[in-house]
Amino acid sequence: MNPDLMRPRAIMSAVPRVLSCVCVLLVTTDLSFAEDQPLRAGASRIEITPAQPVTLAGYASRKELSQGVHDPLSARAVAFSQGGNRLVLVSIDNLGFYNGTAEPLREEILNACRLQPSELFLCAIHTHSAPTLTLNPEKGHSNNVQYTKWLQAKLVEAVRSALDRLEPAEIGVGSGSSPVGSNRREVVQDNTGQTRIALGRNPSLLTDREVQVLKINGANRGELRGALFAYSTHSTSLGPGNSLISGDVHGLAEQFLERYLGASVVAPGFAGASGDIDPWYRVLPGFKTTHGWIPEPVLMGTLLGQEVAHVLGRIQKPVTNGPIRTAIQTLQLPRKKAPETTDAAAETAPFVMTVARVGDVAFVGLGGEVFNEIGKAIKTASPFPHTFIFTHCNGAAGYVPTSSSYPEGGYEVQTSPFAPGADSRLVDEARRMLAALQSAKESSP
Ligand SMILES: [Zn+2]
Repeated sequence: MNPDLMRPRAIMSAVPRVLSCVCVLLVTTDLSFAEDQPLRAGASRIEITPAQPVTLAGYASRKELSQGVHDPLSARAVAFSQGGNRLVLVSIDNLGFYNGTAEPLREEILNACRLQPSELFLCAIHTHSAPTLTLNPEKGHSNNVQYTKWLQAKLVEAVRSALDRLEPAEIGVGSGSSPVGSNRREVVQDNTGQTRIALGRNPSLLTDREVQVLKINGANRGELRGALFAYSTHSTSLGPGNSLISGDVHGLAEQFLERYLGASVVAPGFAGASGDIDPWYRVLPGFKTTHGWIPEPVLMGTLLGQEVAHVLGRIQKPVTNGPIRTAIQTLQLPRKKAPETTDAAAETAPFVMTVARVGDVAFVGLGGEVFNEIGKAIKTASPFPHTFIFTHCNGAAGYVPTSSSYPEGGYEVQTSPFAPGADSRLVDEARRMLAALQSAKESSP
């Protein structure tokens, strides 16, 4: 990568304000005015590779500090504006917003950029080779606390930069297919003949191979500005033995695209519904990291990026440009029973869902990691012709397995805070929130 191309200009600060987002919020608009307005879009990329060694997130067994950088981490932002409404989609090369970091990171951006809570999708690609985020010195290494504070300012810079670049734009949508991800719930047998589900590979189970692509072109000269994509896999091809910083599959796909399409194009990647999906290939045990690029993640990222480029080339017609509408809600989903408690509040656990539309294109941001079947069900239930699914978005509530997977067990079921039934609630709520975005004039419920 050319590091000079990764540092957008700094923008002056805006007036901070206090916002709360633990509520439903529907943005209201007079569409008779708004639909006459052109859609505008802007994109930015900013490097967020840590300068110091940090602990890497995603594997509890990995305690040591990072030992170098395999490939750089970035934050990418795409902003849309139409008729006074805005939407900002941010993708960061990180695991996710654990240790309660979603709210403070979001608040900083919302205040600085004067965004409504529902106008910001702050999402992570779920690479397991990026810094653990924490603002609490008791929950992480001091270098990680320092990094997270620094990241807070960098994210504001990235969003401001995207908003500052808003220009008339057209968007198009396409869909491809990639075999990079595999269902990871492998059935293994112990020496007594008992079977159980282990983290492995199980190509006979369902996955979601769809590669969702959003193309953003300038409206005046037709130049390509953004290539947003979503794909359902964990970014874990480096595995727990890795101690180098990397964006892994999604990050390397982003980097491939930006090299291929040119540095003026921003290519934010998003993790689709991938709670039960891992990349098929993982680095072999005992791999060496001293010779530059490691084959497996680069191979996986390049294959995914290549499919995005392929889909991009086939998108010709723009889709409807407006209006923009957004909503955010903290759902209360059924929680696993704790037998010792009689507290009614303990029967549910929170899960943040954010939805938005830009014309005929819908976005669903899920604040946790959900099984691929749930993402597919939301796409099918959506009243919109195109519905992008982003996970690790605006929250980090943990796994939401399908109800049918609970009797089988496995890592995701054991660690999930949620009870069977959470999956259908998520699909119902997504359908309901998306349907509300469709009506011509919204009012706050
Ligand atoms: Zn995960």
